[in-house]
Amino acid sequence: MQASHVILTLYVTLFILVDDFAEGVEVKTVKFIALGLVLFGAVLFFNREAITLKLMEKTIDKNLTSNLLSSLPDGLHVYLCGAGSPMMDVKRSGPCTAVMAGNRVFIVDTGSSASKVLQQGRVPQANIEAVFLTHFHSDHIDGLGELIMQRWANGAHTTPLAVIAPKGVEQVVAGFNQAYAQDDAYRIAHHTAKIMPPTGSNAAAQGFELPESGQSKRVYEQDGLVVTAFKVEHEPVSPAVGYKFEYRGRSVVISGDTVKSTNIAKFAAGVDVLLHEALSKELVLLINQRAKAAGRANIAKITHDILDYHASPVDAAQTAQQAKVGHLVLHHIVPPLPISTLESIFVKGVSEAYSGDFTLGKDGTFISLPAESKEIKVQELIW
Ligand SMILES: [Zn+2]
Ligand SMILES: [Zn+2]
Repeated sequence: MQASHVILTLYVTLFILVDDFAEGVEVKTVKFIALGLVLFGAVLFFNREAITLKLMEKTIDKNLTSNLLSSLPDGLHVYLCGAGSPMMDVKRSGPCTAVMAGNRVFIVDTGSSASKVLQQGRVPQANIEAVFLTHFHSDHIDGLGELIMQRWANGAHTTPLAVIAPKGVEQVVAGFNQAYAQDDAYRIAHHTAKIMPPTGSNAAAQGFELPESGQSKRVYEQDGLVVTAFKVEHEPVSPAVGYKFEYRGRSVVISGDTVKSTNIAKFAAGVDVLLHEALSKELVLLINQRAKAAGRANIAKITHDILDYHASPVDAAQTAQQAKVGHLVLHHIVPPLPISTLESIFVKGVSEAYSGDFTLGKDGTFISLPAESKEIKVQELIW
């Protein structure tokens, strides 16, 4: 459509609209308002690239001079940098949770889009102090390489990124370090060692012994933040743990991958927020039945097998009720829920099993727990 046609169409449309809303006003005035709006629209239209560049400049300035932490009170804050699973869900990337305490950022599990979803939420990757892994299933580690690189590039760190996890993490970290060795060399050569200090390019594994059921292990303690690990049940996957974060009177438990577990109820007792994984058996069974009907043997076998090592949304709700937590967040959502009606099917029974408030996690779900208070503020930063 030519520009003159656009302007004429706009003028006629606006004339009719303004006329409808301005009964009793002189026709001359209506024409004048419509003409003014059209001229304003035309100015915007013909300058759209310049306006877009100006908006981009403002956004870049904002991102370079502030971040999510700048606007937060001291406290414990949680941002879902991946609320999904290995299955494609546009609103839920591979599992990743950012926990922020004061000015420090900790990442629990590094799903494949972890770094990108952190960028979307303006979580500063330069501030990442450590990564915690719950277990070594591919969907929980496949974003680790990119995260190590982004933390290094953004923060010019001179020490490796600590990756804290049960024993076995040494092999995972050594593999990522080796895979990224050539990339590290390119970047140091291109940007200089001052910008990309060679000693900060890698990750360093800090493995710990899996605690017995009923026991927990303190795996991090600094500046008022305490992180403990406890065993969860994801057999045949072992080791598998959950983590509890405690900071200035606030607390969060992240379940990791597990079936319903009394150990989680024990360590989540009375916490402010429980992030619990959830798989809908009803919806996964539907995929399983259709896979059998379509002769897709591998999909049929896998969708059958995963039923026995995950918890249902109602299992998560029952654990939250037993532990009397302040708020339940369902995450590691299986299967994908591309339409909202599927979301209501997914959470069926949760309100009946758990008397508190709950949130069905999405990428960008953000929970803020200001220090030494009872406040639990939940927001969606992306969807
Ligand atoms: Zn798993
Ligand atoms: Zn998983």
